[in-house]
Amino acid sequence: MFGAVVVGLGVAGSVRIRDMLAPLPGSAAEKLTIKGFISRRSMGPQQGVEQVSVSDALNRDDISVAFVCTENEAHEETVRQFLEAGKHVCVEYPMTLNYKAAVELWDLAEKNGVILQEEHIELFTADYKWLKEKVEGQRLQEGALHFTGGSLKPRFGFLAFSGIARLTWLVELFGWLSVNKATIEEDPNNNYSKMTAHLLTKDNRSLTWIEERGPGLPRAKNINFKFDSFTLTELPPPASRGAVGLFMQDLVLFGAKLAGQVSLEELQREKRRVLHCLSLEDKQTRTTHGRRQNM
Ligand code: NAD
Repeated sequence: MFGAVVVGLGVAGSVRIRDMLAPLPGSAAEKLTIKGFISRRSMGPQQGVEQVSVSDALNRDDISVAFVCTENEAHEETVRQFLEAGKHVCVEYPMTLNYKAAVELWDLAEKNGVILQEEHIELFTADYKWLKEKVEGQRLQEGALHFTGGSLKPRFGFLAFSGIARLTWLVELFGWLSVNKATIEEDPNNNYSKMTAHLLTKDNRSLTWIEERGPGLPRAKNINFKFDSFTLTELPPPASRGAVGLFMQDLVLFGAKLAGQVSLEELQREKRRVLHCLSLEDKQTRTTHGRRQNM
């Protein structure tokens, strides 16, 4: 069994606790047992789980795993602390807000012989699975993915990084990408921002990725993917929720890694994809915000 702490008790952190208290029966998620949570506020038990201090979590032998569920800006420091203490880490995406730090964290995990996972629940969604099936074996001519959503919460970083789930879709669907150009429109007084990234596939097909956030914008993804013989312009209507929640599926994957049930080849493939996406985001952020990227 792997004793775990959850750092950050917001939406994602609460779901992590819930899922560890009732793991999917017969799955690798049963390898994890919740030992406590870490919050900056002093709190009573949450879902029956006690608060622990950071130093306790780093030093206790019965705690070998940390789930980092804080706002994005706090990920890097927290992940580093736990990896340095020899703990396995599952961090909600994005792992960091710059590429260099992510490479350092991965090196640290490998040096200390622990698992580092960046959560990617978007790859478990029915929409993604539907798209993957449609796109398989097709040759893209050109495409666009336009995401809209409410204003970005404070401490969540730049649009390119907070939108990693959309970029991960594009990379998993169309392969390695490069950044041709990226622009940003911002209206801080109205909490509005829009990034347009012009990406290229390996065979120079154009893919436009737009992240647009502002008050009242509906959470939605609009697609336009042109292939040789057909065009996809709509995602399927919302399917009924699967029996197994998205975060639970991510927990099962993480548990399988801890139990040594995931091949080294698969672990390396995932690491390459995560770092590739973060390198693209780094480049987009530098292009659109210059030296402000590390703020
Ligand atoms: P949230 O704002 O609800 O929760 C963040 C929590 O972390 C807050 O309670 C905050 O007080 C706490 N926190 C911040 N710094 C801390 C620290 N140093 N120590 C302890 N606690 C700290 O945000 P959220 O929606 O739960 O998102 C958290 C992370 O999960 C983000 O990285 C986000 O990208 C990722 N994520 C969330 C969802 C989702 O559905 N909410 C889905 C995928 C990924």
